[in-house]
Amino acid sequence: MDHMMADLVITGGMVATDTSVYAADVAIADGAILAIGAPEAMPPAREVLDARGMHILPGAIDAHVHFREPGYTHKEDWATGTAAAAMGGTTTVFEMPNVDPPTGTPDTLRMKLDAASKAFVDYGIYGLLAEDNIEHLEALIEGGVAAFKCFMGNTFGNLPSPCTGAMLEAFEIIAPHGLRVSLHAETASIIDWRQKRLMAAGRNAPLDHLASRPAIVAIEAVSRAAVLAEWTGARIHVLHISSGDELRPLRDAKARGVDVTGETCPHYLLFDEDAYREHGPLIRVNPPVREAVHQRALWGGIADGTIDMIATDHAPHLPEEKLRNVIWQADCGFPGVETQMPLMLTQVAAGRLTLPDYVRLSSTAPARAFGLFPAKGVLQPGADADIAIVDLARRETITADALHSRGRITPFEGWEVRGVPVHTLVRGRFVMRDRKLVTEAGGWGRSVHRIQRMPKAVPRHTGETLRAVTGG
Ligand SMILES: [Zn+2]
Repeated sequence: MDHMMADLVITGGMVATDTSVYAADVAIADGAILAIGAPEAMPPAREVLDARGMHILPGAIDAHVHFREPGYTHKEDWATGTAAAAMGGTTTVFEMPNVDPPTGTPDTLRMKLDAASKAFVDYGIYGLLAEDNIEHLEALIEGGVAAFKCFMGNTFGNLPSPCTGAMLEAFEIIAPHGLRVSLHAETASIIDWRQKRLMAAGRNAPLDHLASRPAIVAIEAVSRAAVLAEWTGARIHVLHISSGDELRPLRDAKARGVDVTGETCPHYLLFDEDAYREHGPLIRVNPPVREAVHQRALWGGIADGTIDMIATDHAPHLPEEKLRNVIWQADCGFPGVETQMPLMLTQVAAGRLTLPDYVRLSSTAPARAFGLFPAKGVLQPGADADIAIVDLARRETITADALHSRGRITPFEGWEVRGVPVHTLVRGRFVMRDRKLVTEAGGWGRSVHRIQRMPKAVPRHTGETLRAVTGG
């Protein structure tokens, strides 16, 4: 057989996996990794990239972004959102359904897939799980959603949270298909009640947002969702873990054998309640940034494996939509997909995480949880060549003006980071090169549902589902 020709060989760098860091070259052909090894073992290549002094990581897989299209494209669209991902070393995103119209029917899924045709990076689409679209859940699976999103608590878009009965029926329907249901795990009735009481008392300062959502909203929601998942065999994922307290029901559920994963976000690891005084309404996000005691517990949850992954909850808004005097009127969330990797690599530099920990949290774990492993989430022959080439020594200062998101305001403004992605490749193609977006790569992104392989589904209590007992 003739020598295989590689499209690209990345030479002189250090390859990082979730278990080790070692010197090796990486050869890429036809969008996949062809070989990893010593320079003399590499095939001839059309192009060689000098990566001396750099580390070669599997690209980040962000299980939680909001790209706002259709409906709110003044905040973000799929071109700007995925450009920000590419610039941040993120090669796959899972995008949320709280757009207008919400992604809860086959028609709206087609609209979303249409918008996603501009993407620079690969993507999974979340289908909405709500009370009014239960009859569409199976059609959404057929149409190519990669997971479902259930808003147990309200946030941007004000999609009503389903009652427990509707959640149970939805879990019964989804469980046999094996797809994961990601939860905004805050209990709406507690939040609504407290917010109304606070508003009636004239409380409208930034810290009142935290008062409206104490950790009990998350404890209650995680516990309840875990019970429904255990009963039905549905797989669940706890989004944006913000409190130390909700780690207990999460640990308990894992110990009982519930297939549940959890994520936290850089803002919960790096901000505490002081942020309300420093940033005012800009820090408003759901769930809220909490007291320092929670921040310490979240780092503990990362260290002991209760928290499986880092995601961003990238949630851009315009500055004027954030900076409102009455806290209840400030839109919730801020951009994150472009700053996650530099912020977390800075934590690696500070010794709070190892580089393999970071690879596991940012890439390998989400790939496993959402059925993409080993096509993604790992650098090994045969895997997609989804790669972030990072300079761990490079320092930059985060500034909203330099971000590619349309939501140009961030509480990380002025933060000095150490560790920056320099090149990003998606299936072998540069989408960022030398810290510049490769604009021609818009549209290169593909939906991951075609390569998704969830483990065999294990539905339970199948004879007692609503469908089984009603015959419909
Ligand atoms: Zn979110």
